[in-house]
Amino acid sequence: MKTTLHTEWTVGDICKGFIYDKNEGKGLFGLDGKLIIQPEYQRNYIYGDGKKDVAVIESLLKGYPLGLIYFVLNKDGMYEVLDGQQRITSFARFVNQSWPFDVIRNGKPRTFKSLDPDEQKRIVDAPLTIYVCEGEPSEIQEWFETINIAGVPLVKQELRNASYHGPFVTKARAVFSNTGNSNMTRWRTYAKGDPKRQAILEAALDWVSGGDIDGYMSVHRYDTKIDELKNHFDTVIDWIDSVFEYTGSEVCGLDWGRLYNQYHVNAYSKDNVSKRVDELLSDTQIDHRGIFEYILGGEKDTKLLNVRVFDEKIKKAVYDKQTKEAFEKGISNCPLCALGHDNNSKRRYNYNEMDADHVTAWSKGGATDASNCQMLCKTHNRAKGNR
Ligand SMILES: [Zn+2]
Repeated sequence: MKTTLHTEWTVGDICKGFIYDKNEGKGLFGLDGKLIIQPEYQRNYIYGDGKKDVAVIESLLKGYPLGLIYFVLNKDGMYEVLDGQQRITSFARFVNQSWPFDVIRNGKPRTFKSLDPDEQKRIVDAPLTIYVCEGEPSEIQEWFETINIAGVPLVKQELRNASYHGPFVTKARAVFSNTGNSNMTRWRTYAKGDPKRQAILEAALDWVSGGDIDGYMSVHRYDTKIDELKNHFDTVIDWIDSVFEYTGSEVCGLDWGRLYNQYHVNAYSKDNVSKRVDELLSDTQIDHRGIFEYILGGEKDTKLLNVRVFDEKIKKAVYDKQTKEAFEKGISNCPLCALGHDNNSKRRYNYNEMDADHVTAWSKGGATDASNCQMLCKTHNRAKGNR
């Protein structure tokens, strides 16, 4: 992995040969044809709001630096913008007057052409600070994760798309990152997140690769077809549909790729499954997200339901231990009473005067086992429950 600092390129250099695609809302090329401004993995251009784009030009007119910009040098000798695409597209739009906008100078709106020559010169001669990095995908990804990029940081899958950019990512994005795709609503019932932030693509890759997204992307990087990815994703979604009728929020973001692999060879009655889902959903003492795998596994693994209530055996054992330790220290066996300074601080409660409490709240993933159980006096338990 090699990074090189470039300070010789100016705004004018980058604007040379700038092409803006208004239909796609993207700045495409610059630097006299050597720079890809809007690679596939980048977010679409979002600065075209008459504020952020104007702010970029005003910074240049005042001589403020635009901040660090990052390019990747590809094997074919082309540069790609890794970070800085919004700023570059803004100044290039202005200077080249493609989809032009105005800035206010001396109370009047000005396009680039109507600025004073010295102001025009100040913009195009403005130096930029650009890091160019070369290396293996994993190196670039790792390096990119460690630098703290201005604005919204890229999510993991956006980083992967950057690292493994190529025909496969392009095709896959056209299907899975396209909010206009007519399947998107159905897909998002089961796969969680924003397609524009690559979450649906990430789920599809996760499912087909059995969790090894990087491995899969690196093997298929130069593929021109995405049939396997697409077919597997469709297969999993169809399978979920064929087993479960329920489409509430509890099914969104479950580990469906793994569930498919583990359970798709089993036969299920959709009617019975529906009935059991409804019954279990009405039970407020269990984790509703665990219901689906619990049913798929034949209702054997109760751990999946992450039950909220401690059983008597655990409560009794915790009570005995707590009471013995408190007795040795001469303090109350309710740990919250023991912290106080009134008469209760030494009070010894009977078992039936206490209730079991999750040290880490059940709603925050705290387990219902002895390690996460404490006995509190009824008053403190109620007070804690009401927080
Ligand atoms: Zn207490």
